Amino acid sequence: MRYISTRGQAPALNFEDVLLTGLATDGGLYVPENLPHFTQEEIASWAGLPYHELAFNVMRPFVAGSISDADFKRILKETYGVFAHEAIAPLRQLGANEWVLELFHGPTLAFKDFALQLLGRLLDHFLLKRGERVVIMGATSGDTGSAAIEGCKHCENVDIFILHPHNRVSEVQRRQMTTIKGDNIHNIAVEGNFDDCQEMVKNSFADQGFLKGTRLVAVNSINWARIMAQIVYYFHASLQLGGPARSMAFSVPTGNFGDIFAGYLARNMGLPISQLIVATNRNDILHRFMSGNRYAKDTLHPSLSPSMDIMVSSNFERLLFDMHGRNGPAVAELMSEFRKTGLLSVEDERWTETRRLFDSLAVDDDATCSTITDVYRATGELLDPHTAIGVRAARECRRSMSLPMITLGTAHPVKFPEAVIKAEVDVEPVLPAHLKDLFERDERFTVLANELHEVQSFVAQHGNRGKPL
Ligand SMILES: *Cc1c(COP(=O)(O)O)cnc(C)c1O
Repeated sequence: MRYISTRGQAPALNFEDVLLTGLATDGGLYVPENLPHFTQEEIASWAGLPYHELAFNVMRPFVAGSISDADFKRILKETYGVFAHEAIAPLRQLGANEWVLELFHGPTLAFKDFALQLLGRLLDHFLLKRGERVVIMGATSGDTGSAAIEGCKHCENVDIFILHPHNRVSEVQRRQMTTIKGDNIHNIAVEGNFDDCQEMVKNSFADQGFLKGTRLVAVNSINWARIMAQIVYYFHASLQLGGPARSMAFSVPTGNFGDIFAGYLARNMGLPISQLIVATNRNDILHRFMSGNRYAKDTLHPSLSPSMDIMVSSNFERLLFDMHGRNGPAVAELMSEFRKTGLLSVEDERWTETRRLFDSLAVDDDATCSTITDVYRATGELLDPHTAIGVRAARECRRSMSLPMITLGTAHPVKFPEAVIKAEVDVEPVLPAHLKDLFERDERFTVLANELHEVQSFVAQHGNRGKPL
């Protein structure tokens, strides 16, 4: 499988090289040159397979030519072997034809584990073969950091540096990052905000001289391997509920358009999906596009669902590429316009065509809390605020009551106690067994000034299993 850039000006790469890159050299994002397509019979024949075997069937075409079947199978078995629930991604019924797909049974209790547990293992596999080491740098406001560290902690050839804003992430989230031990794990608390952290990572990718020749790898949702791993659970959910013979609808809490883009790909690969709902919080750039064809940059609004607090949506460009008949130069022009004006609209027919599949809703903090309350009182299920946004949007945007409606449950409620407290339910979320002693564990992190050169010299001093590069 070859991968091409959404802006059409970068060299095509194979899976291995795409995994080891961030943005394409023309500023675009990598996408498969040809999407694999499965027949209904093929998909139906996968019913009842264990999750890792289904994952192998769905992802095999994407990695073809880069890794042997035997290696890929072994890696997938290991990856999903660390999940705490036997079903890996169990479905829980909330109402008539209404389900939540629980994606929070991985080590860090959020759906990001599905992709980052795999990414770490794939990196290690390819780096061992190449005899290379890499450095990962990422910025986090919470979930990405812990999932990336958990995913890479056993990697022989990876040093990982995660920047978080000092004193501005929740205690559960900080502890999930800072209590993981390993001489290749480096937590940096920057005396600044999340944007400062992200800016430093961006600048480091743009000029990697401080790494003395070591390559920098991206673990944010622009990395193709993350999207790829997320396609699998759409197939898994559908097969549990009578797919592919029946079509389904999905509601997806999203900020960067990563998780929902995976659903869009699942559909284009042959899985019957008749509706995809984009569920956002007040940071609603995607909702404004879907409802009114205006993709316009706004200021940041901190919310009770912080993992979706974004100003622009980094994977949206991948959808734009398809919307424009995979015309790279057209996408490059739109993105350059957006950079200048902060606004982007597409031609009416393209937008109308997109809306045949997608609906959307923006859900504010009050509605998020009242949804947590309502669902808890009606069913006894405690939702995290991101999942609650998905359920709310599912209920308001649903086109058909006779099709299964599945909301992606993106995180465990214990990660976001503030929303649960505000929802005034008479229950406290508890940490699952493997994290019971989280608050007693030792933490390790380094506080650094909000200065690029300080952070970069720290990375250079510690980037080789704690030793200088
Ligand atoms: C990262 C995250 C999201 C948003 O994911 P996208 O890639 O933006 O779709 C939603 N919920 C939780 C809990 C997350 O950690």
